[in-house]
Amino acid sequence: MYPKPIQNIIDLFTKFPGIGPRQATRFAFHVLKKPGLAKELAMRLAVLENTIGFCNQCFRTLEQNDSGLTPDELTRGGFCALCRDSKRELSLLAVVEKEADMQNLEKTGSFLGLYHILGGVISPLDQDSPKKLRLRELHERVKKNLITRPENFEVILATNSTAEGDTTAMYIERILSPLKENYPQFKISRLGRGLSLGAELEYADHITLKNALTNRK
Ligand SMILES: [Zn+2]
Repeated sequence: MYPKPIQNIIDLFTKFPGIGPRQATRFAFHVLKKPGLAKELAMRLAVLENTIGFCNQCFRTLEQNDSGLTPDELTRGGFCALCRDSKRELSLLAVVEKEADMQNLEKTGSFLGLYHILGGVISPLDQDSPKKLRLRELHERVKKNLITRPENFEVILATNSTAEGDTTAMYIERILSPLKENYPQFKISRLGRGLSLGAELEYADHITLKNALTNRK
């Protein structure tokens, strides 16, 4: 057993995705060994907590400076630069798992619509996982959009081509499809299979992503 303060840090690091106890122990001792690192970490984490919020519409991270909002306005929610951009196509909404996927789609320059970041995927092993995603917010947002533009609105399910990504896409399709009764023109599409099986958006190259967008069904 290590001294309590070290064990606490190890326990904290094991909460990170993909980090086991051995790696967490290495991290903890690395922090101990590097002069000034612990202090810098503490400081930067405090800054992170104080200056980063989420866009009230797409849920991407938002820095205070980026939005021009005060911290107070931030906590009450504001829109990010992309959501406020009048050149974006309001009739297209891409649903992605996480912000990194959105960033990668953005880099292709071939998607001009808006985004909705789910904040994760549905895991077959975790029955509570749908509750952890921003699905209620998505449903509300789609409904509002259909009222404003009933003739022309499309949701593109841009989850990864993994088992969990597919499960998530099917789940969303199931909860959004009933809206078609009132809005028959409402389209739900899925990124095309330009993305190979198991491919993650975050790592896909731009040409593959462009093709997947063009070939959506
Ligand atoms: Zn936004």
